[in-house]
Amino acid sequence: MILDEVLSFILKNIKSPPKQETVSVKELCGRILANSLKSNLSIPPFDNSQVDGYAVNSEHFVMNVPITVSQRITAGSNPFELEHSSAARIFTGAPIPRNSDAVVMQEDVEILNEKVLFKSRIYSGQNVRKKGADLRENQIFFHKGRLLSAADVGMCASVGLKEFQVFEKLKIGVFSSGDELKQPGEKLSAGQIYDSNRPMILSLVKSLGLKTLDMGCLPDDLVQTTQLLYEASKKVDIILTCGGVSVGEEDHIKDAVEKLGSIKLWKIKIKPGKPFAFGFIGKTAFMGMPGNPVSAWVTFALLCRPFIIKSAGGSHFSPQPLTIESDFEWNKSNDRQEFLRGKVNNDGKLELFNNQNSQILSSICFSEGLIEIPIKTFVSKGDKLNYYPFSMIA
Ligand code: AMP
Ligand code: MG
Repeated sequence: MILDEVLSFILKNIKSPPKQETVSVKELCGRILANSLKSNLSIPPFDNSQVDGYAVNSEHFVMNVPITVSQRITAGSNPFELEHSSAARIFTGAPIPRNSDAVVMQEDVEILNEKVLFKSRIYSGQNVRKKGADLRENQIFFHKGRLLSAADVGMCASVGLKEFQVFEKLKIGVFSSGDELKQPGEKLSAGQIYDSNRPMILSLVKSLGLKTLDMGCLPDDLVQTTQLLYEASKKVDIILTCGGVSVGEEDHIKDAVEKLGSIKLWKIKIKPGKPFAFGFIGKTAFMGMPGNPVSAWVTFALLCRPFIIKSAGGSHFSPQPLTIESDFEWNKSNDRQEFLRGKVNNDGKLELFNNQNSQILSSICFSEGLIEIPIKTFVSKGDKLNYYPFSMIA
């Protein structure tokens, strides 16, 4: 299976959204809406001035003649109707008085004996922010399943809503695996390496705003792996592992999941990422990423992330690629769909990072996106390819 097929297969296994809870506007950022939101009022709620200046009626307006200033309108005040042939001193955000339809910036007027003199022409609607320009009354402005950003929180606050129904945060447990792994700070012996995947995957999950549980490192031992995965399945909604899902004798994770539950999918036609595994232990979903750091990162970004977002109640989960011209040639025909690391260069074309080995994590650090090469495809300069900017997938 290639990306679209794997995604549609794993996403179909999501049965029901999480439970809901109520949160205040202060706790809203990064949460997923469980209800669509409707505005009970127009935003802005009234026509108001965009500048500090003078409110006038454009039909009665005269240039270069001193005009009386009949009232002073500050933000938060309630003005009375504009007297005929007068202007109102007005400040940014203050309501436009009835019988006026334009505001002249204070920089564009002259003051003569407490009267105001307009030096240029005006038009109706000038410097007026219209009622409802941002949101109309009764407009549904955010749909169920939206992951709320900081600007979204501002929007929610602007309509005066105080409490919101959101989905409860899922618990995601992350394991690394392998007897060769030491933790940062520990001393390395011969043949050992530091565990880079677990902190990396934990960080990727944290950026989704969910509860992350660091489950430690699984040893290369079937009995212990089975026990630790069983215990984890009682604590979390989704278990993520990296390493130990390939075909070697020291890869025990897939066997352990099969003992405890079921493996629904194993091995995919994606490079990097071939040994990716997916299954369930009871109701807890299991996603086994490969151990090579780039493979772990890529399978997390393309597969685990959409699965986690949809499981968490989110509606925007599928990665959407851009189509961009290649500035490189690719002559290696492959029987897997490849996701190369690269970026858009100064000519606006796709360029590859110089090392595409799946162990070279710097290929992620110093790239800006994944470039998709379809199965059995040679690429010439100028060919259009799918590009997944990291900002959209991680
Ligand atoms: P495995 O799939 O367990 O055979 O791992 C494949 C490769 O990835 C091996 O070279 C491992 O040492 C390496 N690897 C596995 N897990 C990690 C990890 N958590 N951090 C860094 N490298 C890892
Ligand atoms: Mg291993």
